[in-house]
Amino acid sequence: MSERAGAVGARNAPPGFAMNTEEPWIDVAVPIRNGMLHWPGDPAIAIRQTKHLERGDDATVSDISFGAHTGTHVDAPIHFFVHGAGVDRIGFERLIGPARVVDVGDVDRIEPSDLDDIRANDRILFKTRNSRHWGEEGFRPDFTYLTTEAARFLAERGVWTIGIDYLSIGSAEAGVQTHKALLDVGICIIEGLDLSRVEGGFYDLICLPLRLEGLDGGPARVVLRRRAAQAMNAERGSK
Ligand SMILES: [Zn+2]
Repeated sequence: MSERAGAVGARNAPPGFAMNTEEPWIDVAVPIRNGMLHWPGDPAIAIRQTKHLERGDDATVSDISFGAHTGTHVDAPIHFFVHGAGVDRIGFERLIGPARVVDVGDVDRIEPSDLDDIRANDRILFKTRNSRHWGEEGFRPDFTYLTTEAARFLAERGVWTIGIDYLSIGSAEAGVQTHKALLDVGICIIEGLDLSRVEGGFYDLICLPLRLEGLDGGPARVVLRRRAAQAMNAERGSK
C-alpha cells in the first residue's frame, strides 16, 4: 500500500479503530463452495456456470444458490421476530471495531459461569472446539453452543455482538430461545466463524454481510487483526 493510500485509510477509519499496519488480517470466514456443509433442512449450496470460457462462451458466469444462513453469516432480528429488522439494517458499529476472541476451551456448552469481564458494547467471538470440525463433511449435532441463560446474561450486560464458530449460536434442540434472547435486544449474531487460526485475545473486527434487503440473514466476509491488549483496555475503560 502506498503512503497516500494508507493516509486515506486512516482518515476513514471508524472511531477507536487501531490502524495497526504491522499485524496481518486473518480471514475467519469459511469458503462458500458447491455441496458444502449447511444447517439441516436449510437449502443446499449449489454453484454452476451458466456460461463458461472453457465451453466457448464469451465470459464465465456463475449461478449461485444457497440459503441466507450459509457458511459464515449474520442473523438479523427478523429471523425470529416477524417485525424485526433485516440484515441490511444492522448497524456498522456492531460489525466493525474492537472485538475479543474468548477461547472457552473444551466445553459442551457456554454457561453464564464461563463469562467474565463482560461489558456493555462488547463484541465477543467465542472460540470453541467447533473450529476444529470445519474440515469434516457431515453436520455435527453435538456442537458447542451458548445456553439461553448465558444469552440472557449477555443481553442484560448490553453487549453489541456475539459470534460463534459453528452454524448456530444456540443448541440444535433449543436454539430458538437462545437466538430470541439475543435478537430481542438487538445483539448482532455472527455464526459460522472459523477461529481455528486465531487464539484468544483482542482484535479489530470487520464483518460485512451482504446487503440483502429485509432478509433474515446474510453470508458475510469476516476478518480479524490482532490488537494490543493495552489499546483495547484503554478504550473499554473510557466507555
Ligand atoms: Zn443464522
